[in-house]
Amino acid sequence: PDISRTSIFETLESEVRSYSRSWPAVFETASGSWLRDENGKDYLDFFAGAGALNYGHNNPVLKTALVDYIMNDGITHSLDMHTVAKRELLESFERTILEPRGLDYKVQFPGPTGTNTVEAALKLARKVTGRESIINFTNAFHGMTLGALSVTGNSMKRAGAGVPLVHATPMPFDGYFDGSTEDFHWFSRVLDDSGSGLNRPAAVIVETVQGEGGVNVARPEWLRALADLCTERGILLIVDDVQMGCGRTGPFFSFEAAGITPDIVTLSKSIGGYGLPLALTLFRRELDVWGPGEHNGTFRGNNPAFVTARAAFDHYWSDDRLERDTLRKGERIRQTFMNLATMFDGVSTRGRGLVQGLVFDDPSDAQKVCAFAFEEGLLAETAGPSDEVVKLLPPLTITDDELEYGLNIIAEATAKVCA
Ligand code: PMP
Repeated sequence: PDISRTSIFETLESEVRSYSRSWPAVFETASGSWLRDENGKDYLDFFAGAGALNYGHNNPVLKTALVDYIMNDGITHSLDMHTVAKRELLESFERTILEPRGLDYKVQFPGPTGTNTVEAALKLARKVTGRESIINFTNAFHGMTLGALSVTGNSMKRAGAGVPLVHATPMPFDGYFDGSTEDFHWFSRVLDDSGSGLNRPAAVIVETVQGEGGVNVARPEWLRALADLCTERGILLIVDDVQMGCGRTGPFFSFEAAGITPDIVTLSKSIGGYGLPLALTLFRRELDVWGPGEHNGTFRGNNPAFVTARAAFDHYWSDDRLERDTLRKGERIRQTFMNLATMFDGVSTRGRGLVQGLVFDDPSDAQKVCAFAFEEGLLAETAGPSDEVVKLLPPLTITDDELEYGLNIIAEATAKVCA
């Protein structure tokens, strides 16, 4: 790397930088599943902006919609004023996403990012129920603002707050991974124990697949049992679909496969469709207890993101092609990973749709695989409490050839590291 060109990042930008340390290049352009750095080296993207680029970089369908909008002097900033772009987004969301699934949610624009929608969800659950505590799960990731961080089960991220978090209610739940639903008997007993302080929580917040937590897949039966328990106890169920929503696991919402209907759903990352910041909080109609202005924010009306979001709904979600393709490509990754798990000791795999993890008993092996992949021109990140999982999160629009090409690099890297 050309040090003189990278040094401003080191001298001026905060030490809080993270991805730039794993991938020390200066990126300049990107198209589809590829990024190009300033020296002209191409990188295949098995990371997709941490799930913010499900439709790839500069997707031509979304780009055309965006460029047309800007060229026609479309509104860019509007707080929460009514705009044509917002109306068309809401109409498309209702038509292509909510109605076909029989979902009757109201929609809030809580602020630009994932952590904003989590904050809105937590605040709403507490306001509706008049209760304070929230139950979260081991290894959960919900965002970096104080409320979202207080329900994030990652000690390194929590340490970033410096001092103890507000109303943190950690609730390790070891049945998460592959335990049986029997574990809920224990959960119920904790809820019944008035000494635990948890007998009347406002909500449970859960990811159906923990992304940052290491591709931990909740089984459908487990999610159904959790949803039933919440209903019985009058606890609101929040599904954080910031990373697993927008088709990452196949269906638009990750909870569809389990046949549950959460009370509150958070969406961000790929909802804007073009890598533009946008977040949605969805909730059952009767939970809309907000008064005007009770959850404000200057950047709630990202109209260019409304335009690209709508283009994505119309183009990709008016039929089930993307969902079927995602499941097929996910299966292709799973086959490769199963083979690697058979070939090498200390390697296993888990995932759903186009979020697939290759899990290494020795975390340094996972990190070596990603470092080798980077040298070979492939971006893949590690996840999990010890960064022991190579997590593949390619754009859903990746071609079969690109997927094959990238999988070969991962297989080669694994063979090299594990040999
Ligand atoms: N929830 C989940 C499940 C996430 O994966 C993330 C981001 N990795 C967030 C919330 C926070 O989103 P953001 O980084 O946009 O604030």
